[in-house]
Amino acid sequence: MLNVPSQAFPAPGSQQRVASQGRSKVPLKQGRSLMDWIRLTKSGKDFTGLKGGLIEVTEEELKKHNKKDDCWICIRGFVYNVSPYMEYHPGGEDELMRAAGADGTDLFNEVHRWVNYESMLKECLVGRMAVKPAVPKGMLPKSQVTDTLPREGPSSPSYDWFQTESSVTIVIYTKQKNINLDSVIVDLQDDSLRAEAVIKDHSYLIHIGLSHEVQENFSVRVIENVGKIEIVLQKKETVSWKCLGDPLEKHDSFIPKKDTGLYYRQCQLISKEDVTHDTRLFCLMLPPSTHLQVPVGQHVYLKLSVTGAEIVKPYTPVSESLLSDFKEPVLSPNKYIYFLIKIYPAGLFTPELDRLQIGDFVSVSGPEGNFKVSKLQEVEDLFLLAAGTGFTPMVTVLNHALTHMSSLRKVKLMFFNKTEDDIIWRCQLEKLALKDKRFHVEYVLSAPSPEWNGKQGHVSRALLSEFLQRSLENSKVFLCICGPTPFTDEGIRLLHDLNFSDDEIHGFTA
Ligand code: FAD
Ligand code: NAP
Repeated sequence: MLNVPSQAFPAPGSQQRVASQGRSKVPLKQGRSLMDWIRLTKSGKDFTGLKGGLIEVTEEELKKHNKKDDCWICIRGFVYNVSPYMEYHPGGEDELMRAAGADGTDLFNEVHRWVNYESMLKECLVGRMAVKPAVPKGMLPKSQVTDTLPREGPSSPSYDWFQTESSVTIVIYTKQKNINLDSVIVDLQDDSLRAEAVIKDHSYLIHIGLSHEVQENFSVRVIENVGKIEIVLQKKETVSWKCLGDPLEKHDSFIPKKDTGLYYRQCQLISKEDVTHDTRLFCLMLPPSTHLQVPVGQHVYLKLSVTGAEIVKPYTPVSESLLSDFKEPVLSPNKYIYFLIKIYPAGLFTPELDRLQIGDFVSVSGPEGNFKVSKLQEVEDLFLLAAGTGFTPMVTVLNHALTHMSSLRKVKLMFFNKTEDDIIWRCQLEKLALKDKRFHVEYVLSAPSPEWNGKQGHVSRALLSEFLQRSLENSKVFLCICGPTPFTDEGIRLLHDLNFSDDEIHGFTA
């Protein structure tokens, strides 16, 4: 690691003036306060030119960035582009420039070790120093650190591991910000560990036959702003591991997600509850040694053996109910997955699923799908068009919108069904509309009873143009649509007709 000698700080003649009681601050220009800096960092501006990506920085590269308008500094192994921060630094520009293109850890520790620079400079993070840090006392050396660059797409993650007496921690450096617990799937079966990190449209796999036994329970942590994933395994015996284990198939590979096969784990049926005359809420429990969270709007594949043949069908997990008070993601992996599934008496898969007894097992794949919550950024009016079980992806989208979208003014669901009896969670939808004034629901029935005095028919231009009213003239809108394929295709065609662009529409399909 590069180290700047830490004597005389601040330097004689520096902007930073030292008062007898300690350090004083340099007067900052107007509009350069901490609040101004915080506001700027939240503006969505790209401070590194890396579009949210992270790189490994060599000493040679770091040294090149030593000018005021191009100033990189390494602090505790992470490199920041501090040029945008120069004018906001309470200690003045000259002080920052003392560590330009170098490791400023000692300087930093001496002056303001307590400052939460990780948060302050999080948007300025360029990446990690390529140099390996010294091995901390009491920990064994890493078995291997790999770094292969794919020809295109995001740069390859690498991994590393360390141990204490009772635990082994595997660290994946994704080199991407905005990684969260949804991005990691971990399965521990006997002593084989399979950990998949989904990074943009690529998948990084750690697949190892562990050298020693570990306990079933493990924890997964994500350090979002540095793109680091930690999997903490608990040793069965307190022996020192000489190596992590033997590589298994596709270990340490980084390939486009579309080229990876589906991996299944056995989940147990915990409960089954009628929701309508033909639709049930199934609750499946993940194995204790699995970490899997399905991202908003994505689906998984369920696999069952039907008369000796393996049948696979896609299903979209939902929340347990629309009204359970929406909670922040929990730190430990979610253990239950809920599905709203319509049983087709003449269908191939669903009657078999319906015949399962509580305690039976179904195979569940990892998440798939191309819906990204980032599409909803800054959206003010969200319109959801669902037909039949096409309602399922709307459940998590709705949940996300009402809990996480601060820009949201209105979310409207137009729900197409044959009859009133087919409306899934009608009572909950109506309670939700009463509870949250931003939410509205309208039903359209294609085969209503004579008593029905609501909207009737199929998706049409007239129905949509009346429904898709913005809350403000130029409000930012987004539309989601899901149902039988011809419904979705027709809906998207009509939305284009009504001048909505592809960027404003997401059609859920297989
Ligand atoms: P199938 O065997 O596919 O039959 C379905 C119906 O079509 C039956 O009524 C059957 O009689 C009829 N049929 C079949 N073949 C013919 C034929 N040749 N001619 C005429 N009629 C025929 N469904 C849900 O309930 N919940 C979900 O969350 C969900 N999520 C999904 C997510 C995605 C991405 C996709 C693509 C689909 C999703 N589905 C969901 C639908 C699900 O995948 C299945 O298609 C559905 O459960 C039917 O499966 P099945 O094997 O029981 O019926
Ligand atoms: P359904 O009850 O048969 O139909 C729901 C409504 O859609 C009915 O009013 C129906 O009218 C109407 N509809 C059907 N075909 C139409 C068409 N061509 N044009 C306009 N309206 C049409 O639906 P379902 O049995 O629940 O099926 C739901 C579908 O959603 C399945 O195909 C499933 O695969 C799909 N799905 C997809 C995803 C996904 O891609 N992520 C997720 C969940 C579900 P009619 O009375 O005239 O039939």
